Amino acid sequence: MTYLDYAATSPLLPEVIDAMSAAERRYFANASALHTPGHLAMNEIEHTRGLLAEMINAEPEEIIFTSGASESNNTVIRTFEGHKIITSPLEHHSIIEAAVIYGGEEEPALYSYMLANNEIGEIMPVKEQVKKAHKEGAFAHSDLTQVLGKLPIDVKELDLDYATFSAHKIGGPIGVGALYVRKGVPFKPLIIGGNQEKKRRGGTYNTVGIIGFGAALEHLKKVNSWSLYDTKVRELRDKLAERILTEIPGSSLNTELERDKSLPNILNASFEAAEGESIQLYLDAEGVIVSTGSACAAGDAKPSHVLMAKTGDAEVAHSSIRFSFNPDNTEADIEKVMEVLPGIVNRLQQISTVTMRSK
Ligand code: PMP
Repeated sequence: MTYLDYAATSPLLPEVIDAMSAAERRYFANASALHTPGHLAMNEIEHTRGLLAEMINAEPEEIIFTSGASESNNTVIRTFEGHKIITSPLEHHSIIEAAVIYGGEEEPALYSYMLANNEIGEIMPVKEQVKKAHKEGAFAHSDLTQVLGKLPIDVKELDLDYATFSAHKIGGPIGVGALYVRKGVPFKPLIIGGNQEKKRRGGTYNTVGIIGFGAALEHLKKVNSWSLYDTKVRELRDKLAERILTEIPGSSLNTELERDKSLPNILNASFEAAEGESIQLYLDAEGVIVSTGSACAAGDAKPSHVLMAKTGDAEVAHSSIRFSFNPDNTEADIEKVMEVLPGIVNRLQQISTVTMRSK
């Protein structure tokens, strides 16, 4: 299988599987309990908290564990319920939909701008937005789900008040995430009814999941992930982009490849007169796994809101495919894609021409 859907989710790293399966046996106790097995489990949770804090230049007590990025995003938006919420049109649905439901007119406002988008990889001027927010007396959040491990993150340098993370985009388990909450900023728990996380997030600790998140963070450090993405992954991504443009008529890129414009691991391309979902299914039949726009919106017949916001063109949005890489990908994966993709696109374009002619 040629897996090019790492931005949707990534397989558990071998060391994560090892850490989690050992933890299932060793750290089963309730981490909030006052007995020794509880303390030992809590020590492991604090280890992961320390690792994440160090990696993003935060204090450990500024990290709250959650069930994932969607919960982290919802928590920040709910904190500002009734307040003005200003977001970019490229945000994940867990920001956009929550902002529509909970946003109001009260001040101070919340600005929520992701540093990099999950569908096209676009890097946004978050620092400018943060400056603007603070000048207005507002607060600033950034969804950094796609950024962790790909670009270095310094929440102090970005001057963020809140930031969102998820374990499963870096080889950790699905269902574990984190929220950075700067000391002293407003906060309202989303899940109440427990003293966990200093009363900021109720619910029995997902010790094994958090240990898995920690093992994935250790891996990022060990392999110097940022540099791998900047070199090996970027080269592969750019090579595929170049080959698509030169070998497939009617193709265009929705990702700007320049270093500061996009994440190094995401390539979004459109194929004139060929439907994205059909391309995805034919590629799947050939063992090549990609996605159309955002997997979270899969099955949604509406074109991707991100591509609509960027291009305003429903046809471009409907004919788009996202290829997303990780350091395990090789030249052979590019070869495999280019062995099958031109034929698939060509076939679909032929059908589309026939359909158009017969109308
Ligand atoms: N934000 C972004 C930018 C994402 O890419 C995703 C995952 N598609 C999420 C939030 C949701 O993450 P989770 O699955 O951890 O809830």
